[in-house]
Amino acid sequence: MNTAKTLSANRIGTLFLSPQDVAALIGRQGIASTLQGLAATIHQDFLRWKSFDKAPRVASHSADGVIELMPIADASTYTFKYVNGHPKNTAQGLSTVMAFGVLADVATGVPLLLSELTLTTALRTAATSAVAARALARPDSRVMALIGNGAQSEFQALVFHHLLDIEEIRLFDIDPQATAKLMRNLQANPDAAGLRLIPCASVREAVRGADIVTTITADKTNATIITADMLEPGMHINGVGGDCPGKTEIHADVLRAASVFVEFEPQTRIEGDLQHLPADFAVTELWQVLTGKAPGRSSAEQVTMFDSVGFAMEDFSALRYLYAQAQALQLGAPIALMAELSDPKDLYRLIRPAANRTSPARAKLTESA
Ligand code: NAD
Repeated sequence: MNTAKTLSANRIGTLFLSPQDVAALIGRQGIASTLQGLAATIHQDFLRWKSFDKAPRVASHSADGVIELMPIADASTYTFKYVNGHPKNTAQGLSTVMAFGVLADVATGVPLLLSELTLTTALRTAATSAVAARALARPDSRVMALIGNGAQSEFQALVFHHLLDIEEIRLFDIDPQATAKLMRNLQANPDAAGLRLIPCASVREAVRGADIVTTITADKTNATIITADMLEPGMHINGVGGDCPGKTEIHADVLRAASVFVEFEPQTRIEGDLQHLPADFAVTELWQVLTGKAPGRSSAEQVTMFDSVGFAMEDFSALRYLYAQAQALQLGAPIALMAELSDPKDLYRLIRPAANRTSPARAKLTESA
């Protein structure tokens, strides 16, 4: 599919989408249909896994966080995301995760879209959780525990309510104000109507009786929030917050007790909860389940785990989805990110003093005079 070419507005125009533009897009489409659309796009791209040029993301670690670049391409479209992860940021009024990204035409290198990806990361992470859970969780799952009630949590709650028919969510965060914020946001949202929210006093209390356990905490402390004694037959663990060396949430014994599914194995071995297990510990890449090449859940009693770290292909899907939807809804603004030159070999013309800025046609006339 030649996404970039068919969507190209003009020769070099770059569409800019701000967080307000993406919020307006969600406002126009509705959150449920946006999450549906994103999940469908991500699913479609997983089905053509082999058409992508893939690599683990490039991470630059520091004492309190990480800044990462996530490039990926197919034959016609190239994308990258810039994203950080700084768990202590919220104490200074900054988000833990902030991101932006670019979608470019492979044939020419022209960047067609420059977009915010902070809000979009929350949406695409939730949509990916749903794609995995639809393949791995028990179809009769109705109760989810949601551990970590920060910036990503509303999106996880909404996607599981709308795409997996979750009816009750049991909440826990070490910060009670985060749980109160999540409850306020969802209780005021008609899209969460019918969803029962139960605040819990501990992880153990939240997890008890849950069909699905989503962990989306942020702490760079090799944490083990879910331990093997909390597992119940048939549970699906959606481990989302452990996504960086030294930042984990799930005890190694949980992975040993479960069938473990990952996005892109070489990256998850470095960043996922999988980092604490030996290199020969068996895992299955999600695309293999989605394409029918490998089994997903094989019984109602099996414990499954999606060790999510966030892979570049999900941002590729999100960027191509945003680009198509924003154009259809006429959202965003064109920006002159690249220099448009009448003579592409004359870049210097941009800085040549105005008086000497002769056009090629005029230069020819002057020469022949
Ligand atoms: P955030 O800082 O807004 O929220 C994190 C919450 O976790 C906070 O409310 C904090 O109090 C809580 N928390 C920390 N330790 C806890 C514990 N032991 N038990 C219960 N709660 C605890 O961060 P966010 O933007 O919501 O992101 C959460 C995590 O998800 C981050 O680690 C981020 O890197 C990760 N993430 C992963 C993906 C992916 O694709 N896998 C995508 C986006 C974010």
